[in-house]
Amino acid sequence: MTSKKIVLHFSKENWNKPIVYRLVKDFNLSFNILKASVLPKQESFMVLELSGPKADFKRGMEYLLQTGIVIEPIEKDIARDDQKCIHCGACTAVCPTGSLYINRKTMEVIFDSSKCSGCELCIKACPPRAMESRLV
Ligand code: SF4
Ligand code: SF4
Repeated sequence: MTSKKIVLHFSKENWNKPIVYRLVKDFNLSFNILKASVLPKQESFMVLELSGPKADFKRGMEYLLQTGIVIEPIEKDIARDDQKCIHCGACTAVCPTGSLYINRKTMEVIFDSSKCSGCELCIKACPPRAMESRLV
């Protein structure tokens, strides 16, 4: 079984492809939409948690690539600028997935991007604007 959080970036040309339907019906995958902004004939994005048997997952990804949709792991879209982070901990209070947490021994704030859902709550909560999003 493979499960990944990915970001799909749609262009003005492919924003209306029925990709979720195809992923479920043709590739036996299950999904959870974590965040989305899909607007008619505009650049759009969708954050998905996608799961399924390894071979089906691979075929599903190949299908997505053929459609021209850009796929990225969530780690590429939500990032922390470590030069700006002052380890104040404000983001840990709002992060719903536990991606941002305090290491109690060192009192450093750790960012585990593999747990991130792309909700962006940390962006507004961060006083020095160390958390950054490339989602459109
Ligand atoms: S976007 Fe920020 S608040 Fe949301 S899950 Fe990711 S790290 Fe946590
Ligand atoms: S809120 Fe910003 S500065 Fe404070 S710990 Fe989180 S990322 Fe670092």
